[in-house]
Amino acid sequence: MNTALTTRDWHSRSTQLKYPTGHFIDGEHVAGGKARFTVTNPATGTPLCEVAAGGADDIDRAVASCRASFKAGVWRHMAPRDRLGVLSRLGQLIEKNAERFALLDTLCMGKPVRDMLGIDVPAAAQTFTYFAELSDKIDGAVTATAVDAFHYILREPLGVVGCIVPWNYPLLMASWKVAPALAAGNCVVLKPAEQSPLSGLLLAELFIEAGGPPGVLNVVNGLGETAGAALALHRDVAKIAFTGSTEIGKLMLVYAGQSNMKRVSLECGGKSPQIFLADLEDLDRAVTYAINGIYGNMGEVCNAGSRLLIDKPIAEAFIARFIERGKGAYKAGDPLDPDTNLGPLVTAQHRSRVLDYIGKGKRDGARLEFGGDAPSLPGSFVNPTLFSGVNNTMTIAREEIFGPVASAIVVDGLDDALSIANDSIYGLAASVWTRDLTRAHKAVRSLEAGVIWVNCFDHGDMTQPFGGYKQSGQGRDKCLESLLGYTQTKSAWIHLG
Ligand code: NAD
Repeated sequence: MNTALTTRDWHSRSTQLKYPTGHFIDGEHVAGGKARFTVTNPATGTPLCEVAAGGADDIDRAVASCRASFKAGVWRHMAPRDRLGVLSRLGQLIEKNAERFALLDTLCMGKPVRDMLGIDVPAAAQTFTYFAELSDKIDGAVTATAVDAFHYILREPLGVVGCIVPWNYPLLMASWKVAPALAAGNCVVLKPAEQSPLSGLLLAELFIEAGGPPGVLNVVNGLGETAGAALALHRDVAKIAFTGSTEIGKLMLVYAGQSNMKRVSLECGGKSPQIFLADLEDLDRAVTYAINGIYGNMGEVCNAGSRLLIDKPIAEAFIARFIERGKGAYKAGDPLDPDTNLGPLVTAQHRSRVLDYIGKGKRDGARLEFGGDAPSLPGSFVNPTLFSGVNNTMTIAREEIFGPVASAIVVDGLDDALSIANDSIYGLAASVWTRDLTRAHKAVRSLEAGVIWVNCFDHGDMTQPFGGYKQSGQGRDKCLESLLGYTQTKSAWIHLG
């Protein structure tokens, strides 16, 4: 991917970039009605564009189009190898359009352009490639019956799937839902987050360019409480695949109950602990992972390692090293500068929320080691922040801040660490750092989280089920299991007389 562009190149491309701001239905861009909402570039605080605020009528139209395509069988009855071809071409087109995707998401939500090119775009392309390859491997079964019967089980798509996604990885989170849903033969209505509504439209456009039939992937933009709610309440939607906050995730379950008992999969918030035991192999390496695990993507990461549980004997050295290295590791700057690794938070409102949490941390008696403030830049930036002396009852240790704020909690050995780690409503991810295999296995079994890392953090590939225990959600993204979540079984029992 082209990383040789300078800041000036990126700015010049951003001013020339043309992009639609409506919906995408039945294979084409649709302007949408008069109602619009403003997307503000968080790096400058200035308005970027006005986007169609879809309502229930737009959702109805998009769902009806998907429903008609599903009934006609243009996608689900396409030979699986042909579906595979479309989705793998889409993966290639995502890579080919890396710069456009990078600009769209960076301008809307402030992510450094180098992260878009280095992380989000390649991971989204890989997601489509992985699920494309699974398209012709969704097997049924023949079961062992008495000789007077033949029984087989078919695995069929669900119908119309609604995907509701957040703004922190706009293209990637959409891909984690859309790719498996399509690979299984469903039709999809995607509702991007209102803070990052543009890359979903490009994705749908490229699906058509890849040879996908119209009406199989539709996109409706709009606010959560209107467009999102209309999609989640729709009676012709068979499943809602949601990534977002725990609060709104719970609403999805309510909407399903109030409408048609649709299936719901939820990827929600987190407060992930990283446990650093005294016998860990390499303090420097562990500190590097601790720093990246909380400051990467401005801390706007569901599995951010926001609670550092550090064993007493190494606590002083660990925190000293974290301060020395962490203070300058991430520097706020223009996200279109390829050297910037810390962009603004998504909105000014979110920055206020994060600064409020920092205020609570101070009031609760945690020690502010560095950061805690905003740099003097026009956008909604917050400096990387470390609190030490935190205990797990403080608000900053209990609630998801979704910003670059780390809490260091000193623990007394593995058992203490495990009980603090599990003392949370969340259970998305966790890590343990130790040289002792027995303790590592004990931690893996004891930690109440869907993803456990040992001697690393945030590693993985497409085979890894990604999702949470407890109020971090239900269902898994990536992996074969996620694809099967977009299917249902049908039993065919044939009496042989
Ligand atoms: P959010 O819950 O506010 O919004 C997520 C999506 O839901 C958006 O598209 C929004 O428009 C929509 N929405 C909001 N209200 C709605 C309603 N009443 N009905 C229907 N739809 C509605 O979350 P956010 O602030 O966009 O994203 C941040 C959250 O996402 C964090 O909590 C983060 O942990 C979580 N997240 C989780 C994962 C994961 O894999 N577990 C990944 C990324 C983000």
